[in-house]
Amino acid sequence: MPMKPLFLGSHPAIDFINTSLSPGGTLIELIGDGQSFVAWLVDAELLDASIASKLKGRFGVAALDAAAAEARRFRTWVADWIARWRDTPRANYKSELVRLNRLLERAKSYHEAIATRNGVQLVERTRIDSADDLIVLVAAQVALLIAEEQPDLVKQCAGAQCTLWFLDRTKAHRRVFCSAAVCGNRAKVAAFRDRQRGAV
Ligand SMILES: [Zn+2]
Repeated sequence: MPMKPLFLGSHPAIDFINTSLSPGGTLIELIGDGQSFVAWLVDAELLDASIASKLKGRFGVAALDAAAAEARRFRTWVADWIARWRDTPRANYKSELVRLNRLLERAKSYHEAIATRNGVQLVERTRIDSADDLIVLVAAQVALLIAEEQPDLVKQCAGAQCTLWFLDRTKAHRRVFCSAAVCGNRAKVAAFRDRQRGAV
């Protein structure tokens, strides 16, 4: 059974980085092949489920696997760039932008007019003509993160065994855990045990 992808990053670009994680030192790969990459894009709401179900038949397994491999290489590169961007936001990232723009150029975007209860609404769509186009969906999110978000709000979870990243969207900017229920709780339990040990 493939593991259900985690969406704790508060931004699709961060969730993309989190598709490789190693809780407690065990490496988990969430986009190990084409099928899981497509499933992740659907779960991340970057790709329509009805389009996704047709992709395998249209492009074939090998092309989708190759797209997933490209996405994993892109992920390693993006994680490194975002870490540097967070630490030194004002550095010159010209070569990184050139590489990102090469992917963004592949986008075939158009607007679809959709009838809603309140009238007609325009929705931006990206045409997927080949498996190579899938990575564009992720690259666009990376571009949005770099262009619109504050670098110092990109944080790594304070959980001892956790490797996840998140964008701190809380008002006070004091978020320290990927998930209060998981890592936050674990830290609380550990602190409680330490206190008890100290009390004895
Ligand atoms: Zn965590």
